[in-house]
Amino acid sequence: MLVVMQEGASETQIENVIDRLVEMGFTVHRSTGVRHTVLGGVGPKDDFDPAELEVLEGVKECHRIVSAYKLASRHFRPGGTVINIRGVDIGGPTLVCMAGPCSIESAQQIEKAADIVASAGARVIRGGAFKPRSSPYSFQGLGEQGLELLRKAADRRELLVISEVMDQTQIPLLAQYSDILQVGARNMQNFNLLRELGKIRKPVLLKRGIAATIEELLLSAEYMMSGGNYEIMLCERGIRTFETSTRNTMDIAAMPVLKRLTHLPVIADPSHGTGRREYVVPMARASVAAGADGLLVEVHHDPDHAWSDGAQTLRPDQFAEMMQQVRAIAGAIGRAA
Ligand code: PEP
Ligand code: MN
Repeated sequence: MLVVMQEGASETQIENVIDRLVEMGFTVHRSTGVRHTVLGGVGPKDDFDPAELEVLEGVKECHRIVSAYKLASRHFRPGGTVINIRGVDIGGPTLVCMAGPCSIESAQQIEKAADIVASAGARVIRGGAFKPRSSPYSFQGLGEQGLELLRKAADRRELLVISEVMDQTQIPLLAQYSDILQVGARNMQNFNLLRELGKIRKPVLLKRGIAATIEELLLSAEYMMSGGNYEIMLCERGIRTFETSTRNTMDIAAMPVLKRLTHLPVIADPSHGTGRREYVVPMARASVAAGADGLLVEVHHDPDHAWSDGAQTLRPDQFAEMMQQVRAIAGAIGRAA
């Protein structure tokens, strides 16, 4: 249930509608836009007459939402969500690039990565300290020690940090070191983890599962939002199809589809989306052209010796060139670059 209040509706009128919704059994989420206050009611039933609410003072319109997700729906915040993290806007006019190695390997490696990222103009550094590897024998990450190295390297260059949280017990640790918590593709439907992330007030980047539909991705975002954490960004990182030429099939159409269905910022990860270095830059360009609000890309000073995902990791020169190209594309489609 979505109730859009009239422009200039008074606080008393808004409170009155909230009280009525609560009486009807709804949990109410309030969004204050530039013109209108929108009340999202998550409730036990969707089968009553919206007119019952439309007649209340100060109400402009009321919609029954048939889609399973409500808070993640574009209707909830038609103007879109901008997540501001220490001066960096994600989801606003400026394209935001997050880049760095797949895994944090050493102080020397992450310092070099931070130089590459900052000098090319990206604002966020990535690096996994807890790695969801397909094989239990592969490198699993440096853990807290890695997070410390990543945070130091980021702070020296005023970069934000994004790093993956693999289970709920790691949330306090990740929240201490990282500005954005990444939920990996394999965890997109780890509902216990999502519920716990709904309780914190830290931005989360939610990756699309390898076989997840867009609706399932949005429902996973809804899990966190229904707990009160509205700072969610969604990440298209390729899905599994019958095609074997690329590691995954990058769903470029997910960008405009998500922009239509949800107000949440959309980030594209062409590294995991293709699995091959030579395809990453073209897919990054395509993603920006298709409307992505940002990119998440793997880069390393020596990708051929990276401890994980080397084949899809850009060299510094390729990364710098990509940054220039995506900026030009962003400018061409009316975004700031
Ligand atoms: C990663 O970002 O390094 C990663 C493991 O991503 P995904 O969850 O998309 O596979
Ligand atoms: Mn990786």
